[in-house]
Amino acid sequence: MKQFVPGDHVPQAGTYRVYHYKHRMPHLVNTLLVQFPLCSKCGDKVRFEETATDAEAAGKWLRHDPDFMDTTVGIKVRKPTALAAVKNIFLPILWLCGT
Ligand SMILES: [Zn+2]
Repeated sequence: MKQFVPGDHVPQAGTYRVYHYKHRMPHLVNTLLVQFPLCSKCGDKVRFEETATDAEAAGKWLRHDPDFMDTTVGIKVRKPTALAAVKNIFLPILWLCGT
């Protein structure tokens, strides 16, 4: 599995396993960030690995993790896809028209 370091480009939005240096067990996170952040405790020693498993990661966002809350400030987030944007605009309209 390819590992990423802080500052690397995030290849795709999804679930990653996070390996910390000496202060925390590996854990899963979801991210929409475009770049991997530093860890607030182990800094640039943290590693990220792509994983296919996302079942345990539901609702665990990298940006909401206490170790990354401060270090992800300022990193860009992927824009929602055009399809999602269209759904957000048109579904409420369709819903209103149907009532
Ligand atoms: Zn860490």
